[in-house]
Amino acid sequence: MAHPGIVWPEGRKFAFTFFEDPDAQSVAQSREVYGFLSDLGFRTTVGVWTMEPPERNSGGPTCQDHAYREWIQELQRRGFEIGLHSVAPGSMTREGIIEGLAAFREYFGGDPVTFANHYNADAMYWGANRLNGLNRAIYKAAMFGRGIDRFFGDKRGHPSFWGDLFQERIRYCRNFSFRDLNTLKECPMMPYRDPDRPYVNLWYSAAEASNLTSFLERVTDESMDQLEEEGGASIIYTHFGHQYFDSGSLDPRFKKLMTRLSKKNGWFVPVKTLLGFLEAHGNGKTISAADRDSMARRWLWTKLRYGTS
Ligand SMILES: [Zn+2]
Repeated sequence: MAHPGIVWPEGRKFAFTFFEDPDAQSVAQSREVYGFLSDLGFRTTVGVWTMEPPERNSGGPTCQDHAYREWIQELQRRGFEIGLHSVAPGSMTREGIIEGLAAFREYFGGDPVTFANHYNADAMYWGANRLNGLNRAIYKAAMFGRGIDRFFGDKRGHPSFWGDLFQERIRYCRNFSFRDLNTLKECPMMPYRDPDRPYVNLWYSAAEASNLTSFLERVTDESMDQLEEEGGASIIYTHFGHQYFDSGSLDPRFKKLMTRLSKKNGWFVPVKTLLGFLEAHGNGKTISAADRDSMARRWLWTKLRYGTS
């Protein structure tokens, strides 16, 4: 296990990155926030959709928008990772997913390495499928009637099945998110393999910061100093389209915190680089059912108490 006592590359003291989910974002917002992060030296993971779905379940641009696609390609040239957030902002069948994966190759020169589910029918091991045994039973009872049994990406025979393609082409999939900024403290074994969910090669966890409000809870002067002292690693899962621009431009509190963070001796690399490093240093193994279920239980209580994703 790589943590604790991990030695980060280049003499860095800790690692910090984002997987950003494009829900509800505009192209202008993407330009503003990534222009800002890029200037500060952050190189994070930008989640995208490649296709327009038959029916949308979310706002936010797809790579079918040329201006957006060119901007995302520019970010890739600057060293940002382009991750996949399901192929579209709406449920797709296998044929559409094949097209969406081909489009990703065409636009970005290879398959996505890092992935996070959007709440489509084609989502992979999502809803109640994230959990086993008692955790699953508790979750199903608590979430009854809230649509947690409508995810089929891993269900062979369903029109939205694409588990085999996922396994072939995508390396890392996001699962549990936690309230500690130090994701590696919550999930020291990440990325890990779960034998009960074989279409996903390796899972990673995240720090929950769905919108600006939760970002401001998660990232404070104190929590970033603590992350540095612990020599930890943070993968923040957020939506820059959720509240960050409510004042009309990028929130000044976010800018102040990120500017402060950028001055620290952190390793600000994309999710795939961070997870690849952890794998090269002994992680990337199969998790035991006991470790998985205890982590899932901690996630479940956090979710039921705070509504985290
Ligand atoms: Zn989403």
